[in-house]
Amino acid sequence: MRDDATAALREYGLPDSEIRGDSIPVAKSVPGMKTPCPNCGCESVMQITVQINQPLLRGGTGTGVYLGCPACPWASPMGCSASQKKENES
Ligand SMILES: [Zn+2]
Repeated sequence: MRDDATAALREYGLPDSEIRGDSIPVAKSVPGMKTPCPNCGCESVMQITVQINQPLLRGGTGTGVYLGCPACPWASPMGCSASQKKENES
């Protein structure tokens, strides 16, 4: 199982991430996720992955991952990782 999403979610705080116009967000349920929506308590929080433009990332583009609630407008801060980044560095 890839650990990209978990790693990305720790990297909050990159500003000005722009969702690429040709990117279709992908939402999926998170197996084993027990954290309900902090806004409304919905237990079906989804993980959304989008391709972004982010000048602070190497290459200028990357993958943004955040959590979103299907029942209300709540969404978590977006975590970002560069597309070409090598994983498993730690
Ligand atoms: Zn909610």
